[in-house]
Amino acid sequence: MSPTDTSGVRLRPEIVALPAYKQGKAADADAFKLSSNENPFDPLPGVIAAVQAETAFNRYPDASARALRERLAAKFGRPLDEVHVGSGSVALLAQLILAAAGPGDEVLYSWRSFEAYPSLVTVSGATSVRVPGRADYGHDLPEMAAALTDKTRVVIVCSPNNPTGTIVTTEEFTSFMAVVPSDLLVILDEAYIEFVTDPEAVNGLTLLDSYPNLVVLRTFSKAYGLAGLRVGYALGASAILDAARATAIPLSVTGQASAAALASLDAEPELLARVRVLAHRRDAAWRALTEQGWAIPRPQGNFLWLPTAAETAAVAETLADAGLVVRAFAPEGIRVSIGEEDAIATLLLIGADIVQDLPSTHPARQLG
Ligand SMILES: *Cc1c(COP(=O)(O)O)cnc(C)c1O
Repeated sequence: MSPTDTSGVRLRPEIVALPAYKQGKAADADAFKLSSNENPFDPLPGVIAAVQAETAFNRYPDASARALRERLAAKFGRPLDEVHVGSGSVALLAQLILAAAGPGDEVLYSWRSFEAYPSLVTVSGATSVRVPGRADYGHDLPEMAAALTDKTRVVIVCSPNNPTGTIVTTEEFTSFMAVVPSDLLVILDEAYIEFVTDPEAVNGLTLLDSYPNLVVLRTFSKAYGLAGLRVGYALGASAILDAARATAIPLSVTGQASAAALASLDAEPELLARVRVLAHRRDAAWRALTEQGWAIPRPQGNFLWLPTAAETAAVAETLADAGLVVRAFAPEGIRVSIGEEDAIATLLLIGADIVQDLPSTHPARQLG
């Protein structure tokens, strides 16, 4: 590693070169924020009350978030030491990568996928190996298997995939696991699993006993609407989770976050009813846009993928002018979160004009 001169201080050049984290753009008061896959419903009163009751914050929180881990262990029928909680599942992802991969090692994932993966890998010192997704925007697991080398230490599979919304099927996943060496850590990122309605989609929870090298990541940020409190969890073998814990910044999960997560599990029927409303809104939007001529992969998260390709910036601007703040990944496409009903109504209203203006051979009009 050659030192880089930055304010006279020698910093790791690959870190200095990292792009700053891009947060979903904020929306003006009269616009809708559909850029961060957040839950548009306001927090439930019972969850707010649980957070407000957590007032002893002159004390550090419980380091292992034991009460929440116990609750999750019981919910999922796993031993307590096979549950790990972190300040968002991104924190857990960082810990797991650090625990398994370092300089000279490779971390393999499909691309395009979650924008946090590349920088987390770089921070660990390892190298990203990105396997292009299929023409239908799903993971190409056979190609990922072919890209494994003796340097691979971690594979990340994201289902539903952010930002394309596609799922990995159980069959695809188990076929992949059959060829992955059993000493290789596989992380299944299921940040959006609660929104999945396709019965063929993989569900990592059911596979933990079959694959001791599998760790499943889930979060309270999306379906449970706790994005601002930062709490997610990992399920997997205790030895792997212990290694992740060893890399963690201690005491990151606050008492307020734990309390909110516990209250959310108490209120699960109500929260999952909201998830069904959003999934229904998503499916209705997908159907309407498809009828307008859009070729959009079948969405299974709380967002849609518009493959706007070279027109990405222009379409994002048109949407912004209509009061919809979205996430543009030029030159590939646009991710639109399933937000408020009015926001999606606006999307459908202007979506028809946008697609008509694209040439008939445009990728947004022809699913690969
Ligand atoms: C949102 C998201 C996460 C996790 O978010 P946290 O708020 O850190 O729990 C993880 N993976 C993917 C793919 C996501 O989109």
